[in-house]
Amino acid sequence: MKYPVYERFYTWQGEGVHLGRAAYFIRLYGCPQACPWCDSAGTWHRDYRPDGVTLMDTDELAEVVRNESPDGAVVVVTGGEPILFDLKPLTDALHALGRRVHLETSGIAPLRGDLDWVTLSPKPFGQPPLPEVVAVADEVKIIVHEPGDIQAGLDTLTGLPDEAVIWLHPEWSKARERDLKVLNAITQAVKENPRLRAGYQMHKLYRADDLDAHSDKRLIPLGGNAELGY
Ligand code: SF4
Repeated sequence: MKYPVYERFYTWQGEGVHLGRAAYFIRLYGCPQACPWCDSAGTWHRDYRPDGVTLMDTDELAEVVRNESPDGAVVVVTGGEPILFDLKPLTDALHALGRRVHLETSGIAPLRGDLDWVTLSPKPFGQPPLPEVVAVADEVKIIVHEPGDIQAGLDTLTGLPDEAVIWLHPEWSKARERDLKVLNAITQAVKENPRLRAGYQMHKLYRADDLDAHSDKRLIPLGGNAELGY
């Protein structure tokens, strides 16, 4: 099994329950969702199509994870949309190294692989998450570009386990601009529903991942590019 690897880098998890943990990120190429504020546009947008994507098999990926991060660092498989791929060979290889494997997904396809943690981020564009993925999510990350995104995201979560954490994250351009309409909507929602938590993408403050030598995101504006329509 070979995977199209857009980029891979060792950094720390910048959001969610595992905020601040050392993590090796594997970002796979390809996503059909086309979110207009996507911050990983290099994985799908025609204006940021990379010159090439590295096809790596499970042994190669396990080897770079072992060489480029210490024991104990979790591995985060993200994208793009990684759920499009059969992740079982990859999760098996990484578990053989003794690593925990986390997944970040919008949940639009059946999940194949043994994951230790599933972060579901339903998107208001493209397809909603499948109920079978909602049912195994450990946490949910709703990106809030407009106040209405909060309820729209919550409406996709029928069947979410009671113990799953639900984060409301200001979309990065809104967070960067301190957009009070969005930030206050998140504050109000959390105050009204204590199950919700206000979140933030801390790694973007630190520029923790895009300064890594293996990351290509330094070529892509963080938080999308309104002039290009994403
Ligand atoms: S689902 Fe994620 S990777 Fe895909 S377009 Fe939306 S933000 Fe970008």
